[in-house]
Amino acid sequence: MAVVDPLYRPDSDEHLEAVARAEAALLDPAMGHIVDMVLRVDGDAYEAASVEGRVRVRREADGTGWRYVEESVEGRNPLANQDADRFVPLAEERANPYPDRRANAYPFAYDQLGQLFDAPTAPDLIAIHTAAHNWQDQGGHLGEHGSIGVVQARAPFVLSGAGVRRDGFVPGAARLVDIAPTVLALLGAEPGRGVGANGETRHDALLARQDGEVLEHLLDDRVAPPEHVVGFLLDGANANVVYDLVRRGELPHIGRLLAEGVALEHGAMSSLPTVTLANHTSILTGAHPGHHGILHNAWWDRARREQVITNSQTTWLTAMTHLSPEVETLFDAVKRHRPGSLAVSMNEPCDTGADWSVFDLMRRGERLLDLPPAEALPDSTQRFVRPSKDYAWSSQVDHLATVQAEGIWGGEFWGRVWPAPRFCWVNFSLTDAAFHEGGPYSEMAAASLRDTDARIGRVLEAVERAGRLERTAFFLTADHGMEESNPEVRGNWADALDDSGVSYRDEGYSFIYVNP
Ligand SMILES: [Zn+2]
Repeated sequence: MAVVDPLYRPDSDEHLEAVARAEAALLDPAMGHIVDMVLRVDGDAYEAASVEGRVRVRREADGTGWRYVEESVEGRNPLANQDADRFVPLAEERANPYPDRRANAYPFAYDQLGQLFDAPTAPDLIAIHTAAHNWQDQGGHLGEHGSIGVVQARAPFVLSGAGVRRDGFVPGAARLVDIAPTVLALLGAEPGRGVGANGETRHDALLARQDGEVLEHLLDDRVAPPEHVVGFLLDGANANVVYDLVRRGELPHIGRLLAEGVALEHGAMSSLPTVTLANHTSILTGAHPGHHGILHNAWWDRARREQVITNSQTTWLTAMTHLSPEVETLFDAVKRHRPGSLAVSMNEPCDTGADWSVFDLMRRGERLLDLPPAEALPDSTQRFVRPSKDYAWSSQVDHLATVQAEGIWGGEFWGRVWPAPRFCWVNFSLTDAAFHEGGPYSEMAAASLRDTDARIGRVLEAVERAGRLERTAFFLTADHGMEESNPEVRGNWADALDDSGVSYRDEGYSFIYVNP
């Protein structure tokens, strides 16, 4: 199977020579404090290189997925450690701040490379930031993500309620792409024909394109499946921090979910690039960014010679026009498996197929919910609302998500009557704002989790008031992890790339397109 489409990634000698020069510039030892490694595709092989060594792997179809064979290793393999259980629990993570490439782990690393470079819009090179790199380079911005290092990739995953095993914390990890098929299996959906991770037909698919697998060991097949599923996304919430506060009893509503369900101790791993909209879409489609079309927050489309930006306030409305027609969202899949069902989405840009979505209101030019003043919000830690613009705005937005969910579960909202939703998705953004600004271990991050926990409590109450609690399953996750970076470790690899004399574009500060 040809990985490289010559139309988009010219394989002329001149082009390859320019890519090699750009790679060499990034791998200059002077950049070693900020460049963890560089990823690329070369013909039908994939390479990861750091200042300490290089690995070259090739993939072979294996069932519905891929098996990776190491073709050669020079020096130290940068992806040698792929342990998903590294740096758990929180004390272990905090005892190893800014792990260097010898200490860090990169779960599912080869699959991360394979899926991303399947996309025709993939870059020539992907620069991975070191764990320490404080790349947003602004005061008061400590938390970072985007790397495939385990702390930046690890999201929490809690599954709870009807049809779920009540095992509490269980060892093991999953991937965000496993969530959508697991939700459909939980709802009792019948498997059928679809496309698997390696692009071949699979006959046990629950989604049109299914890279993920059902997490069977979390489901209880001795009881009736749920009639409803509610999903909560806590953007950018570090899994160890969430689990630690739950264990301390500081997040009573998430604690209640855990008491009636399971949590994966080692988390659910975000897909490369471990950034927001790419992984919201992975959770909601069961497909990786290289397959579902929302490749990154921004990328370069060589064929159209244009920059695509998806994750910004001005482009959220139209972001899903880039969604691959080969994927199916959980909203669509739930309605296909259970015709007549209602599937609703609160504040989620990946809303294709949802029967209620604020972004859909905006697309249709309808009136919107009024943003309440931040000082008057319930469940908002005023100590952070007042000084932080991001904390205040995200609190307002998340309050509106809660109001929508309460209204729809209440049966009357927006001048309409609503049956109980089969699938209800609630996207909370405050955690991302607070974990970035204060860092994952800050009092601001903890406050954002307490505020969000209270909002989750309001949604649980609404489901209970509707008389549906016993027949509902819940899950909670994030789109990526969040790592405390080192404010002393700054710098920009653009300096090295500029000096190399190669013409390039760097999209999303990591995707490098040579001779764009
Ligand atoms: Zn995010």
